[in-house]
Amino acid sequence: MPPGCDCAQVVLGKIYPNQCRIYGKACTPRNPVGPCMVSDEGACRIWWAGGVRVAVDA
Ligand code: SF4
Repeated sequence: MPPGCDCAQVVLGKIYPNQCRIYGKACTPRNPVGPCMVSDEGACRIWWAGGVRVAVDA
C-alpha cells in the first residue's frame, strides 16, 4: 500500500474508510492514493459517493 493508506485495514473491516487519516484530504476520487479510492467498487470510493466527505479520528 502507498504510505498513509489504510486500505488493507479497510478491506479487512478493521476500520471504516473515514477512519483513514488521509480520507478526503490527500485521498479523494480525483486524486486517489490507494486502491480503495480508485475503483467504483472500492470501499472508500463508495463511502465518498455516499456523501461521507469528512475523516474522523480513529
Ligand atoms: S482513503 Fe485512500 S488512502 Fe485512505 S484507505 Fe482509502 S484508499 Fe487508502
